[in-house]
Amino acid sequence: MSPIIAIEEHYITHEIKSLIDNYASMPDHTRVRLNDHFDIRIREMDEAGIDFQILSHNHPGAQIFSPETSAKQAAKLNDELASIVAVYPNRFAAFASLPMQAPEKAATELERCVTDKGMCGAMLHGMLNGEFFDLPKFWPVFAKAEILDVPIYLHPGVPDKRVSDAYYQDYSKEFKLFNTAGWGFGIEMSTAAVRLVLSGIFEKHPNLKIILGHLGEGLPFLIDRTHEGITTRQSPDKRQVSFRDIFCKHFYITTSGNFSDSALLCSLMEMGSDKILFAVDWPYNNNKDATNWIKKTKLSPDDYQKITHLNAKKLLKLNFK
Ligand code: MN
Repeated sequence: MSPIIAIEEHYITHEIKSLIDNYASMPDHTRVRLNDHFDIRIREMDEAGIDFQILSHNHPGAQIFSPETSAKQAAKLNDELASIVAVYPNRFAAFASLPMQAPEKAATELERCVTDKGMCGAMLHGMLNGEFFDLPKFWPVFAKAEILDVPIYLHPGVPDKRVSDAYYQDYSKEFKLFNTAGWGFGIEMSTAAVRLVLSGIFEKHPNLKIILGHLGEGLPFLIDRTHEGITTRQSPDKRQVSFRDIFCKHFYITTSGNFSDSALLCSLMEMGSDKILFAVDWPYNNNKDATNWIKKTKLSPDDYQKITHLNAKKLLKLNFK
């Protein structure tokens, strides 16, 4: 049997749950699972045939702390995460949670987590206080990721209030997830990804690797149009940015929360099977829904192996057999 590795699987640390603004309003189903680091998690992995999870803290992780305390608190959070992984090292690995409020310290924390704690990279969430992570002040984190040869996973966060007010509030009461998983997340994270390409960071850091969830947050469907608008219509005297080349070289996408054959086919045609990795987005999505879907897709045996485990093993340097 070929193994399945799922790489966007969340938990919540007991340390900071009281600070998370939507914690109290979370459905019981979600809250119980985020808090349960072992029993329900392992059982639902086994029931769905998931061999290995890369754990990441629920949004917003260490980005919730004040700038002054964030480095210390993030270290505590990541130490707890490492101790969870240590209980089942043959089932879990982890993405670090970084104190982006203090970017130099976040870079140091990334190094500590990868070098000392064996983590596979880091996950960043949405924006930080209305700022996207392509701003140069955050580049030390990406520079460190390149040196360590680990990816940075760009995961959605609750959209900026200015955006929510202008775009989403009219319908958010009736349609609770319009602002988030239903639409707002994808718009914000695809914007974050395009901005990262425009920022020039990949020219400075040619080996930087970025992961997007949810089959690329809509970008595979829009690569051609975005490339046309950004690359083809650049004036010749400006810095030339080939959107398609940069995006397809540096970005990896996962299947988290997007179990669609047509979206997968589009992603395969645009990005190729080396750039797609299996993920569930547990507990927001159900493990069995995800594995039942991937097993029934019409992927070739080679592509299936790559997407379900070989790409993850290579990108994240997992020792998992
Ligand atoms: Mn997620």
